[in-house]
Amino acid sequence: MSGKDCFKILDKIFIPKNKQKISEIKGYTIKYGNIIENDEVIDEVLVSYFKSPKSYTTEDMCEINSHGGNIIMKRILEICLKNGATLAEPGEFTKRAFLNGRIDLLQAESVIDVINAKSEKEAKTAIKQLEGELSKKISEIKNEIMNVMVNIEVSIDYPEYDIEDVTNNEVFSMLNSIEKKLEKLSKSFDSGKIIKEGIKTAIIGKPNVGKSSLLNAILKEDRAIVTEYEGTTRDIIEEFITVEGIPLKLMDTAGIRQTKDEVEKIGIKKSREIVDTADLIIAIFDSSKEIEKEDLEILDLIKEKNSIIILNKTDLKAKINENDKRLKEASKYIIKISALNKIGIDSLYEKISEMFNLNKINLDNDVLITNIRQKDFINKAIDNVKKAKETLEQKMSIDITAIFIKEILEELGKITGEFVSEDIINEIFAKFCLGK
Ligand code: GDP
Repeated sequence: MSGKDCFKILDKIFIPKNKQKISEIKGYTIKYGNIIENDEVIDEVLVSYFKSPKSYTTEDMCEINSHGGNIIMKRILEICLKNGATLAEPGEFTKRAFLNGRIDLLQAESVIDVINAKSEKEAKTAIKQLEGELSKKISEIKNEIMNVMVNIEVSIDYPEYDIEDVTNNEVFSMLNSIEKKLEKLSKSFDSGKIIKEGIKTAIIGKPNVGKSSLLNAILKEDRAIVTEYEGTTRDIIEEFITVEGIPLKLMDTAGIRQTKDEVEKIGIKKSREIVDTADLIIAIFDSSKEIEKEDLEILDLIKEKNSIIILNKTDLKAKINENDKRLKEASKYIIKISALNKIGIDSLYEKISEMFNLNKINLDNDVLITNIRQKDFINKAIDNVKKAKETLEQKMSIDITAIFIKEILEELGKITGEFVSEDIINEIFAKFCLGK
C-alpha cells in the first residue's frame, strides 16, 4: 500500500508480535505479526515499512508478505480494501513515483522494460535507463540548448551592441553540435530495437532441406536462452531466443517443427508472407541435391532482403556449392553447415553479428534508446534544429530562430515527461501490470 493513509489502514488490520504501535515503527524495518479480521488471525506475515519520502513512490508505504497462495492473498487484499485502501491501477506505483518527481518518464518507462527483459543485454539496457543514463544524456543536450538561448537573449536584449553576426555564427555551430548528438541518439534506436525486440528471423526452405534440424541445433545450444513469447499475429508463433548475445525472434517455428506426418510444411505462399515481415531470412538448401524450381523461387524471394543462404548437409556429397551464380546473386552471405552434425552453426552466428553490427554495440559506453516514442520526439527535435539553422542561414530575425529552439526544448521535455499530456502518461502506465 502506498499513500498517506496506508499506516492508518495497516493499524486496523495488522498486529505486530511485540505489540509496538505502528506510528512508532521506524522506516526501513520489517515487522513480524498477524493480519487480523474480527479477532481472527488470517495469516502470519512480515510487513516492511517505508516512510515518506524514502520509498518507491515517495509516499508512506508498506508491503505485506504473506504465505502466498491465492486464497490468503485474496483475503488480505479484500481486508485492505474493506478498511479503506483502493486497488492500484496498472503501473500506479511507478506512476506515483513519476508524478511525485522521484523519477522521470524515461526511468518510469524503463521499469516495465526491466521486468519484461528477455535477454541479459535487454535487461542491462533497461537498468541503465532506470539509473538515469539516458535522462542524463538528454539533460546535457537540454543544457546546451539553454546556452544557445542565453546567447540569443543577449543579442535580443542588447541590440545596440551589434553583435548579431558573432551570435549567429556561434549559435549555428552550437546547433550543429546539438544536432550531431541528437542524430547519434536517434540512430541508437537501430541497436536498441534489436536488443529489445530481437531480430525477426524467418527460416525458410523446401521440405526436407533441414529447417527443423537447424532449429533444433540452435535451440539445443547450451548458450541459447529461450523465452516463451506470445506472437503478435495470431497464426504466427514466435520464439525469442538469445544465442551468444544475439537476440533472435524466430518466426513461425511451429510450422517448422511439425513432424513428417503433418500435412502442411511451410509452403512457398506462406514463406512469402513471412519474408515480407522478417528482418532476417535464413534460406536453407540441401547441398546434396541439384537446385530445383522451388529453390529458384526461394532465391527469387530473398533477393534484396537481408538474407543468409545456408547450404546444409555438407556431410553428404555436394551437388551445389557456394560459387553457384544463382546463389551469389541472391545473397552475399552463403555458409555451409551440417545441421545434423551441428557443424558450422557458429559461422551462422558470426554472419548475423556482422550483418546487424552487433559487435559494435557497446552497452558499457553507449546510451541506447529502445522505444519508438522516444525516437519520434528526438526526430522532431532534430527537425527543429534544422529549421533553426535555416533561419540563421537565411538571415531571418533571431526571434524566429528562438521560436524553433524553444520547440527543441519542448520535444525533449516530452521524452523526460516535463511537457507531456495526461493522455500520454496514462497510455504509458496502462502498459504496466498491476502492482508495479
Ligand atoms: P525440414 O523439412 O526442412 O524441416 O527438414 P528436417 O530438419 O526435418 O530434415 C529432413 C531430413 O534431412 C531428416 O531426415 C534429417 O535428419 C536430414 N538432415 C537434416 N540436416 C542434415 C544434415 O546436415 N546432414 C544429413 N545427412 N542429413 C540431414
